[in-house]
Amino acid sequence: MPNVEGKKTEDVLSQFIENETKGMSSSTINREEVNMDTQIENMVYGREFFAVDPNSLPAGIFYKPGTKISIKGATVADVQEYSVVDNANIVDVTEKMNMILSRCVRFTHPNGMQGTYKDVKDNDRLSLIFMIRELTFQKGNNLAKKMSCEHCGHEFKIEFRATNSQYSKRTFKHIEMEEELKEFFNPQTKTVDLDVNNKSWKLTPPTIGLQEIFFNDLKTKVQISNINPNVSFLKVIPFTLWDRNKISDDGIKAKEKEYKEMDMDTFQTLNYVVDKMKFGVDGLEDKCPICGGEVHSDMSFPGGASNIFVISSPLGGLKKK
Ligand SMILES: [Zn+2]
Repeated sequence: MPNVEGKKTEDVLSQFIENETKGMSSSTINREEVNMDTQIENMVYGREFFAVDPNSLPAGIFYKPGTKISIKGATVADVQEYSVVDNANIVDVTEKMNMILSRCVRFTHPNGMQGTYKDVKDNDRLSLIFMIRELTFQKGNNLAKKMSCEHCGHEFKIEFRATNSQYSKRTFKHIEMEEELKEFFNPQTKTVDLDVNNKSWKLTPPTIGLQEIFFNDLKTKVQISNINPNVSFLKVIPFTLWDRNKISDDGIKAKEKEYKEMDMDTFQTLNYVVDKMKFGVDGLEDKCPICGGEVHSDMSFPGGASNIFVISSPLGGLKKK
């Protein structure tokens, strides 16, 4: 368990949410290398929602059958608000992404009840952001970064594509569930079921809503009360709250107590399994256009997270007078 004493608030918060935004703020790639053929006029002004197949998301198998997720393109107002994102501040990046999701995602539970983006699995945040981006800028404006083929040396650009289309394949490589874990997957409740020392546990990746509550709780503890946050608790416990998307302050206290009193076998097992449940986007993969060999890249993002919705060189699309 990492010792967080003496660390800045930012470090602690970063540690908690680094998974989803890994590499986004630390890219060394030059802005000029971003392939931006897009013109601002391509933006979608409509409010039409499109269905997303939950199975096309990294944590797709954890949604209950009948769950409906749909998205729409971001409006100019959404993009304006997003555009002031501080790339170096992972907390701000997360909050701005959630703002986009809150406006562009519609979630419907299997019983027909309307949910919100907070019901989406935290692991799917980045994929949905990119899907919304694809709807926002529809005409041939893909974000890409330069790379050279590891087989033939050919230099080309690999695109950031979260979805398959009739023209191109998804380049986002999802983290798959390992065989070892599949054995414990319960297809009825969509959870990983474990029995440790006569106690049953059901694990599922937490929702954005649940993570937000734990995240704010952590923020308060660090900033106001100056309490050392229990990062290990925050890593493991949200996965065990499989049937809920919120928790009260008292609920968190009760869970903290339970966590401290956990026996060694239980802790070791839960900690191990949670490490294996960090589903998300692992990197990019595509085929070399010359030799057809598979090429891979990490997710490091040209120009930082702001470039997802802010076009880096829009003047290219303007006509001179
Ligand atoms: Zn090649």
